[in-house]
Amino acid sequence: MSELLYSWGKYPYAPQTAHTFYWRNELQNQITRLTDAYGSTLPYGNGRSYGDSCLAISSQALHMRSLDRFIHVDWQKGTVLAEAGVTLAEILALAIPHGWFLCVTPGTQFATLGGAIANDVHGKNHHMRGTFGNHIRRFGLVRSDQGMLTCSLTENSDLYASTIGGLGLTGIIAWTEIQLMPISSSQIDTSVVRFSNLAEFFTLSAELDHQHEYSVAWIDCLAKDNNAGRGVFIVGDHAPYGPLEIETHHKMSIPLTPCFSLINNLSLRAFNETYWRFHPPKQTFKRSSYDSFFYPLDSLLHWNRIYGRKGFQQYQCVIPDAAAESATKELLKIIAKSGQGSFLAVLKRCGNIASPGLMSFPLPGTSLALDFPQNPSLAALFDRLDKIVHEAGGRLYPAKDAHMNGIDFRKAYPAWEKLEALRDPSLMSRFWKRVIL
Ligand SMILES: Cc1cc2nc3c(=O)[nH]c(=O)nc-3n(C[C@H](O)[C@H](O)[C@H](O)COP(=O)(O)OP(=O)(O)OC[C@H]3O[C@@H](n4cnc5c(N)ncnc54)[C@H](O)[C@@H]3O)c2cc1C
Repeated sequence: MSELLYSWGKYPYAPQTAHTFYWRNELQNQITRLTDAYGSTLPYGNGRSYGDSCLAISSQALHMRSLDRFIHVDWQKGTVLAEAGVTLAEILALAIPHGWFLCVTPGTQFATLGGAIANDVHGKNHHMRGTFGNHIRRFGLVRSDQGMLTCSLTENSDLYASTIGGLGLTGIIAWTEIQLMPISSSQIDTSVVRFSNLAEFFTLSAELDHQHEYSVAWIDCLAKDNNAGRGVFIVGDHAPYGPLEIETHHKMSIPLTPCFSLINNLSLRAFNETYWRFHPPKQTFKRSSYDSFFYPLDSLLHWNRIYGRKGFQQYQCVIPDAAAESATKELLKIIAKSGQGSFLAVLKRCGNIASPGLMSFPLPGTSLALDFPQNPSLAALFDRLDKIVHEAGGRLYPAKDAHMNGIDFRKAYPAWEKLEALRDPSLMSRFWKRVIL
């Protein structure tokens, strides 16, 4: 029997039949075969997208993970040419001992190269290096109507721009060449300080972001009144000396999905209070492994199961600088009042480095991301949040989304028409059908 695939949030619950293959030259035939049999398909990387952007409308997905070979590496220049199913963890395992690191990494190393390009992912150094798309030299794209095309800034440049952040709709990325950045150590020098309100967050961000490669904040989404907007500000840099080591900690795993979510208002409130108090009021420095700095969640395999059978949704928006403080304050007020949310709440200032991708999510401003156990009251809560985001000129992140309406999407991403014009007619996701058709 074929393996079933899901999105990370398991909401909407739409199991996908996995179609696996092993060679790049099989790709075009696979697309044609699935389109003839089911009407359309969609590439699926490693299912680290939360909502429905990685779900095929036909529920028949082309599983890319088995395209996992390295094709060429150059340790003088720090370039890697690899198949699209290679994960970021696999790249790090190869590159770190040679003194190279990913220029941009999201908060999971289990994303594939293809998935990282299709969502044009960003990380804690967006203010310094932009998105993943800023570091792609070229890629091979297989289309049902044109076969394999090489795409770069100078070759098939329209498809290059629309595939970066193109949600897997312009063709299947078979391979890609990326640029890495040099490091002297795999460890990260970090500094942590807690803040008491949003104004302090913005002051810290203005003062520290430009001094550090990485910057991010945890925020207590349930804190109200005098404590509203409190959190922990974290900055980091690659250590100037130290070992170049791959982290191979034993990973724990959530073995099964409970019937109901283990996250509730009481457990969350107690946890947030303890976590905030645990952090120092004065800036404190320490050296940590790259693994615990970038990928704390990856150390607990299948952590998405703690949300139970109904799954969960992540709400991630970015608000332009002009309205960032007031709109974020309003969003947090509504969330705290609702008593919903999760421990995983992240605030991050994005920079102004433009992505080569047409549909990239970040813009100069502040991004807020947090998880919510799925329940019937979420729709009304998200409606209220969406209104604030759109009035502030912000937008939601398709990689995390399972609810945004088409009108908001098309307004926030005016380049959608160019993407639709270049979409491979054989590829269609549940997300795209929801927001476009
Ligand atoms: C714990 C956690 C932390 C995260 N942190 C961040 C973060 O900090 N920043 C951020 O930006 N994102 C973050 N994400 C989201 C994640 O990085 C993205 O959703 C990423 O795209 C997932 O990659 P994937 O390989 O699992 O792709 P999937 O989720 O399987 O697919 C994502 C998209 O890529 C397309 N796709 C996959 N392979 C190909 C291919 N070969 N060719 C063309 N299209 C393809 C799919 O059709 C789909 O549209 C996080 C996710 C998790 C679970």
